[in-house]
Amino acid sequence: MAVSEKTGSASEPSVVRGPGIAKVRHSRRHYASLAVAALLAVVGVVGSVVGADAVAHNNTQKSQQAFKSSSGEIASTLQLAIQHEQDLVVSTGSFVELNPGASSTEFVQWTNSVHTLKRYPELVGLSHVVVVQAAGLPAFAAQAVADPAAPLAANGTFQVIPPGNRPYYCFVVGQITRDVQEILPAGYDNCAGSTPSTSALLTSESSGESAYVPIHVENLNLLVIITPVYQGATVPATVDGRRAAFEGWVAMGVTPQVLLDRALQGHPGVTVTFSYHTDSSKAVFSSGKIPAGAQSTTISLHNGWTVRTFAVVDGSGVLANGSALALLLTGIVLSLLLAMLVFVLATGRARALRLVGERTGELRHQALHDSLTGLPNRALIMDRIEQLLARNRRQGTSGAVLFVDLDNFKDVNDTLGHEAGDRLLVSVAARLEATLRDADTIGRMGGDEFVVLIDGASLEAAPELVAERLLEVMRQPFDLTGATMPLIVNASVGIAMGDRTKPGDLLRDADVALYEAKAAGKNRYQVFHPEMQTEISRRTELEFALRSALERDQFRLVYQPIYNLDDLTLVGVEALLRWEHPTEGLMQPDDFIPILEQTGQIREVGHWVLVKACRQMAAWHAQGDVLDVSVNVSGRQLDSDDIIAHVHDALERSGLVATSLIIEVTETALMRDADATAARLAAIKELGVKIAVDDFGTGYSSLAYLRQFPVDCLKIDRMFTSAITTSPESKALIGTLVQLGRDLGLRTLAEGVETTDEMDHLRDEHVDEAQGFLLARPLDAETLEAQLLVPGRPTVPAKAEPSARPPVVKSGAPPGPAAH
Ligand code: C2E
Ligand code: CA
Ligand code: CA
Repeated sequence: MAVSEKTGSASEPSVVRGPGIAKVRHSRRHYASLAVAALLAVVGVVGSVVGADAVAHNNTQKSQQAFKSSSGEIASTLQLAIQHEQDLVVSTGSFVELNPGASSTEFVQWTNSVHTLKRYPELVGLSHVVVVQAAGLPAFAAQAVADPAAPLAANGTFQVIPPGNRPYYCFVVGQITRDVQEILPAGYDNCAGSTPSTSALLTSESSGESAYVPIHVENLNLLVIITPVYQGATVPATVDGRRAAFEGWVAMGVTPQVLLDRALQGHPGVTVTFSYHTDSSKAVFSSGKIPAGAQSTTISLHNGWTVRTFAVVDGSGVLANGSALALLLTGIVLSLLLAMLVFVLATGRARALRLVGERTGELRHQALHDSLTGLPNRALIMDRIEQLLARNRRQGTSGAVLFVDLDNFKDVNDTLGHEAGDRLLVSVAARLEATLRDADTIGRMGGDEFVVLIDGASLEAAPELVAERLLEVMRQPFDLTGATMPLIVNASVGIAMGDRTKPGDLLRDADVALYEAKAAGKNRYQVFHPEMQTEISRRTELEFALRSALERDQFRLVYQPIYNLDDLTLVGVEALLRWEHPTEGLMQPDDFIPILEQTGQIREVGHWVLVKACRQMAAWHAQGDVLDVSVNVSGRQLDSDDIIAHVHDALERSGLVATSLIIEVTETALMRDADATAARLAAIKELGVKIAVDDFGTGYSSLAYLRQFPVDCLKIDRMFTSAITTSPESKALIGTLVQLGRDLGLRTLAEGVETTDEMDHLRDEHVDEAQGFLLARPLDAETLEAQLLVPGRPTVPAKAEPSARPPVVKSGAPPGPAAH
């Protein structure tokens, strides 16, 4: 795993730096000259003793160095294991928090769905324990009989153990276990005894900290980790706060032996003790007997845990034999001195080679891994994608690349600083890594971008499900040291699957899908499909052209007439935006307004629309045509107080009477940030302007909800108008909307009237006003003025019969050169 690779090499750099190599050369010369001196002086005894001593010293140093780095690796493996355990507590805590009434079956289903036992081989059991007050006991017992978390009594009933009436009880409500024969019965009151676990439960509730209790069950040494769970997923700062928000405990039993065995892999001859010590808890685990004469190192993990390693370090005995060796050496001075020389040179060379090897390994690691998170970097990821593609091609399977990008990460950096940003990235990496299976590769592409590779052959679930799981774990708040509050950071994911000729193509497609996920509102995933590519390049071109559209005067307004449904008098117009694209001709709003909204340019353009529409209507008023003008305002405009100033400015610059202006806001835009929007609309209404709810019926608001907004008119969406003739239900629904609207004192308008049949039905339901292609298409100002505002108007289809088509559209076509 990447992280352990990193910690492994990080513990060693002192022996692999460049100067170390220089030192090796130095000592080689040192030994050589020593030997030469010995030869020359023919003081065999002295020379050999010095030589042996030097070798012994060297050995001891090497052995000690190896022990030190083993200890470091063991400690970091154990530290990682503890973090891993904490992750499980956090995720179980959030499950419990999000599903406060979860049944035993639901608990088991959840743990299975996240593969708890498979992912935590050291885990022997995981349970959720709650406090049941005496009054709640009968209900709890009934629930436990229906869906027991542990065995019931022999006769199938729920019996409290130990028996007796107590003010409260602590029962298990959900649990899973691995190979445990003796499971405590469902009625076992965990708070009744005087065992260490009982007191640990109670102290952890008030202290807010996890308690570690070593216990001995069925010949196994177990560590029970008890963690209190509070509402809101954070631990309240005061004891009273903790008591109030307390919800229960997550208790887990782990076999420390499994953890220790894993940590000791590759470190023969090392024994380790792993101990935990705080004011309230104390636990010690050992991997075996400590050999006599062993050296030890102690490493504190700074979270209450301490790791001690023991090993017999070579070489210290050789020193004692130095004189014997020297005696021997005097016998065969020359040959042994020569042998010694060769030996020293050889070991020196071997060591230098090893150091070079390690240094190269370290450099390779640095070149292929991200220094902050230790994850594979872009270069390594590209290589892995290539392998993934080749493997899947061979096996006829389909792999996937998930591009994960944090939403609004820049805000974290901007508000909390880059250090906090870095810490967040490290936590994100750890969290993503913990969520994935070992077979999946995760890497960091730079910034807040991560990539996950899923091999087709080992694909257990669709990549979409993996993405959902990633998004889910990301939604849990992050507790950053230094931040005052837990941080909520969402992410978006782009997925690309299947074969590609180049690894870069798969990555690019995932990136394109990511872009779509961001554009669709973030905190979600999108799967790549080939049309996205063309959509994106077209979008980019349009975005570019739109940037200069306003200053190049390429926007136009057309006006669609609105009629009173009773007598078909013209009562107003709705201003609709068009864009005269320099090469593509007239473009409809659906093709460019979403881009304006996304870039924020809609605010500026929306201001222009307001001014232009108000000026036009003021001019018509001056000619005696007193109509209302409706202007569409998008949600993005309502996000800022600027909208109030813009409306005010448009009225002032045009001189239009405020009561003739209607602002149209869609139901969805109203609900985006309901309180702020209601306040802004109230300020606009203060000016005398009217407010209409556009596309009414397509959102999720209820009419009752609308009461909080200062609304004057409901524009019933085209969808209902076209359905009115086909189903009695739609007709009834429109009837209800009109009636409820009337109860709230609102006018109703039907959009998209296309047939006389529809118009007849709308009249039956007493809809006040209508707008649609049947009556008139959107027209440019000149056409509208020439055809509808002719002297002698007030009504367009003057005194037309109720169901007759207005004369304007007698031929079924728009009057004159429609600007539509
Ligand atoms: P909308 O506000 O619902 O506008 C009514 C749309 O319905 C217009 O489309 C209009 O041409 C169309 N329409 C009217 N009668 C009929 C009919 O009988 N049948 C059919 N099929 N359609 C009919 P348009 O002009 O393409 O505008 C589309 C949307 O773009 C508007 O929907 C509005 O949400 C948005 N929009 C237009 N102008 C502006 C603007 O200046 N600012 C903002 N923020 N949005 C605008
Ligand atoms: Ca509208
Ligand atoms: Ca509408």
